[in-house]
Amino acid sequence: MSTRAMNRRSPPPSPPPANRLRSRGGGTGFRSPSSSSTSTGMGRTSAITLLDTNHGRERRLQRNIPLRDIQAAIKHGKKERHPSNRNLIIYTYQGQKHIISEDESRRLVTTMVSTIDLQLKYISTQEGAHHRRAQGIICDENSKIPWKSHSILIVDKSGSMRNSDVSGCRTRLGAVWLSIAQDFINFRLEAGTASDMDVVTIILMGEDAKVLVDRHPTNKLLFNRVVEYFHDSEEADREWHRNRGGKKGRNGKRQRGPRPNMRPGFVQPGGHGFYGPSLKKAEDLLEQYDDGHAESALHVLLLSDGRPSDHTFILRDMNDNRKKSKNNKDQICRKTMKEEQDEIEEVYKNVRSTLQKAVERMASKHGRRFNFAAIGMGNMKEYECLKELVSSANDFGGQANFQVPGLSCAEIGAAVSSAATSLTACQTALRSATNIGGQQQRRVRQCLRENSRLLPALTEVVDDTFDIYMNEDVERDEYKDGKFVKVDLRDADAKGVALKQLAFGEGQERLAFQFFELGDDGSTVVGEALVAKESRFIESETDTLGRSNNWLSRDKFVKRFCKLHATAQICAKAFNQKLDSIPNLDLDTARVSFIDCCVYYLNHKTRGQFAVIVEPRLDGKFEKWNNNNGWQMKTSQKDRREIATLPEQENEDEDDDVIDLTGFDKDSIFVSNNEVAQAFSHFSYIHSGRKRLICDLQGVMKKQSKLFCFTDPAIHYHNAREEEGSNLTKYGRTDRGQKGIQNFFDSHTCNGLCNLVTKGFINAD
Ligand SMILES: [Zn+2]
Repeated sequence: MSTRAMNRRSPPPSPPPANRLRSRGGGTGFRSPSSSSTSTGMGRTSAITLLDTNHGRERRLQRNIPLRDIQAAIKHGKKERHPSNRNLIIYTYQGQKHIISEDESRRLVTTMVSTIDLQLKYISTQEGAHHRRAQGIICDENSKIPWKSHSILIVDKSGSMRNSDVSGCRTRLGAVWLSIAQDFINFRLEAGTASDMDVVTIILMGEDAKVLVDRHPTNKLLFNRVVEYFHDSEEADREWHRNRGGKKGRNGKRQRGPRPNMRPGFVQPGGHGFYGPSLKKAEDLLEQYDDGHAESALHVLLLSDGRPSDHTFILRDMNDNRKKSKNNKDQICRKTMKEEQDEIEEVYKNVRSTLQKAVERMASKHGRRFNFAAIGMGNMKEYECLKELVSSANDFGGQANFQVPGLSCAEIGAAVSSAATSLTACQTALRSATNIGGQQQRRVRQCLRENSRLLPALTEVVDDTFDIYMNEDVERDEYKDGKFVKVDLRDADAKGVALKQLAFGEGQERLAFQFFELGDDGSTVVGEALVAKESRFIESETDTLGRSNNWLSRDKFVKRFCKLHATAQICAKAFNQKLDSIPNLDLDTARVSFIDCCVYYLNHKTRGQFAVIVEPRLDGKFEKWNNNNGWQMKTSQKDRREIATLPEQENEDEDDDVIDLTGFDKDSIFVSNNEVAQAFSHFSYIHSGRKRLICDLQGVMKKQSKLFCFTDPAIHYHNAREEEGSNLTKYGRTDRGQKGIQNFFDSHTCNGLCNLVTKGFINAD
């Protein structure tokens, strides 16, 4: 936000000093000072007399403290005499302090927010030396030690960050430093979720982007550094008020008050806040320092209190040019208000789209490693742009989140710590995916991502972002009766396939790409839209001669996936048959299925032969009903109601927590879709003789055909280490064995369908 915009909102010229005040809608009229009551019997809070002074009023407006708060402080607050001026009383109430004259007129001398103070932490010689070593490793480009995360914090330093309307802090900027120190650094240090190799960079966002802290380890020294910025911001605020209140000198200019001890890097808020340069800087730094740290989490946290003002300079230049052309009399330039307004809108739109592109590029490049958190302070209306940036990051495979906390230190701190928590969650997910056990780490493939929300229904592939494979460069294999057999392409007219180079989806294990079968011209799409899936990792196993064999492990990866799907499909068929056999089960009860998948072997000119898993693209709302870690979707009351209203009988007691379904129609059994999904997981365990549990149920529920189309399930196998000589579990990395089965049943509550579908099996135990 520009300084000018802020000034526009600054308090109007102060009224004469002894302006008597009462709050709006308060007492019935002015009360004379003599009639003011004492603290023992004050009457209504709003009727308490209070006189404003110039200074008191200014402070009150700056800190956004309503008059009523001060009246309440006089009535209910702690009362103490001012230490140096015996005629003044300090009232302390709800984190605010008000200094008021003791006489009956009660002049408000000043008001302040009691602020939080932060102490520097003690650093021992040992800790200092340890820090220097860590800093050396981080900045050494040849170091082999990988970073755990790289966080780039972008802090707005525009003029409006000087506003002192945050409760608990002198200024907005102060609140930001406080939150970073306590809720980003200290919070993670104390929880043990951050250490030296969690690298932090801080960028100051003004009209340009200034790197204030460059690649610092997360430790007590970083905390101290931010605490110093916090203290600076308090000092900067004092300086600002001294200068504004300074007496006018002979030249008519205000004389500057005593200057504080300016440290290098002293941050004085002011000027515009341009998002562009800072986002560009963040993008460049993430890119520049990514070598050798490809498994680390990346985090960009943007803290701002207004919309970007990047467009202001562009508009200024445009105006200058127009003036010049007017002077030259080359053309007479007259624009209506409407035209000018449209022009401004147009420029602002372009600025926003440039910013979005920067975030899209970061998300596209780094995918699920990329965490983007935007925190907007203040007025909700100003944050359209921040919201757009967040959805861009999400669309391109990043993990992004937008928050607008209230204007208090506590709420801003909570927003920052929630950003820190999602960074930690991302790190945990990345770690669990890359660790194979011991010191071994899987390497993540580098790949760009595209917008997942805008998948086209193509009829022709002409785009050079697709790789085309024709004729003998394509082979399709299906898993039938326990082995893979070569089959024709899906569509009778297909002679080749097109595989997109950019991924549109990314799970913990796999990347998803657009995939089409093509006619013999090599460009016309035949058949439906498909999805090709590949491992997120550079799979590497050794062949029988001990050589690292990429091909072997990729082949294993796709085959394991297809086998797993086939196992789940058999179970789904059995489940549907079981449902058919239940008398009285409502005819609309959903059935389950796993979408067909097969393997395509493709021969690339330079990559050589490789395999992808291909399945039909699911259109519709993608949902998850349970996962492989015990989480299960809860059946909501809404779901239950929908079923309850099916028999077209009035449900008169809507507030009743438990709806007795049997009461509606004695002949039919109704279950919700979610209950079908959970019962299927339970069924899979019993059906397999308590050996396998199929979970991680996700995909699309087709409302028309009442059919679940699941994809990518996980199977927990009771004896996880059955496959001999392999360090892998039977059903891949998502197979958590007996522990996974236990987790499922710990959180599973049997629904009405469970009992019906699990009956009639011989207990395998
Ligand atoms: Zn159950």
